[in-house]
Amino acid sequence: MGTEALLYQALAEGKARCGVCRRRCIIGDGERGYCQTRINQGGKLYSLIYGEVASVSINPIEKKPVFHFLPGSRWLSLGTLGCNFRCPGCQNWELSHAEVGRGGTSFLSAEQLVQLAKQHHCLGISWTFNEPTIWFEYTLDGAKLAKEQGLYTNYVTNGYITPEALDSIGPYLDVFRVDVKGFSHEAYHKLADIGDFTGILESTKRAKEKWGMHVEVVTNVTPGYNDDEEQLRGTASWIRQELGEWTPWHVTRFYPHLKLRHLEPTPVAVLERAVRMAHQEGLHYAYLGNILGHPMENTYCHQCGSLLIQRYGFDVRQYNIEGTNCRYCKARIPGTFAQRAQTMIKS
Ligand code: SF4
Repeated sequence: MGTEALLYQALAEGKARCGVCRRRCIIGDGERGYCQTRINQGGKLYSLIYGEVASVSINPIEKKPVFHFLPGSRWLSLGTLGCNFRCPGCQNWELSHAEVGRGGTSFLSAEQLVQLAKQHHCLGISWTFNEPTIWFEYTLDGAKLAKEQGLYTNYVTNGYITPEALDSIGPYLDVFRVDVKGFSHEAYHKLADIGDFTGILESTKRAKEKWGMHVEVVTNVTPGYNDDEEQLRGTASWIRQELGEWTPWHVTRFYPHLKLRHLEPTPVAVLERAVRMAHQEGLHYAYLGNILGHPMENTYCHQCGSLLIQRYGFDVRQYNIEGTNCRYCKARIPGTFAQRAQTMIKS
């Protein structure tokens, strides 16, 4: 039957309202929620995917992408099946659109997860590949244990988490790597099958302000969907105003997948324009992603303009931050850089 869910409310006639993501599905007896991972059995809600891991690997944190939190460090990355969004161009559709409960997963307890991360000398655990809130109960147990064992924790998320779920896991999460897919209800409707995207912005702000998480934002720029001025400038401007000028923003290249196979990859010029727009809006650390070796994937000091981190794919090739400061002009670089010398995979 699964593990009884957290954060649900029993309703009349045996129904239950899930409180984990902002869809807040009302689920009848014997039925599942939108994500297919939560089932109502006799008026109680159960998770069908507690500890059911569909993919696990060890990656540098650059792969998430996260650029200002322990660059070059090893993280255990894992995901399950299902998702609370239905993105037509999802690059992980084989996991996120898979049928839940028909195999394709292996059980890994929260204790085993933390042991595995330590065995492989990882600095942290990333819940990634599909939306971590759908296996909220497992991520909560895993994050608590990870913190007890001195590991860092990262949600790679679409940000559609409810305030109550975020407040439950907030004390145990260090990094909130959130997608802001666009800046209009229309764009979000087309890209994620949700109506009101403003809750994503609220949760992101809450992660930073209430829980002090390190936040980095990603926008995968999809031709014809979110590559216009309103979406890109709107997102950059919102980040600047609500998360602050030091927040990293990654604009990444879309590659055709699933129902958007007919589209071309995002033109490089569109991504470069988005990075320039971010600078015009006052963001100091805007990055272009998914294009191997592009100079806009590097980190340059906001004060003196020197090359601080040179990247090639997920590798860090040059590193010119000493402690937390620019090696050249000594400006403090925003983010978490301490301990990096012990954490590098490569340099
Ligand atoms: S986590 Fe799943 S069941 Fe719960 S509200 Fe979101 S989509 Fe619905």
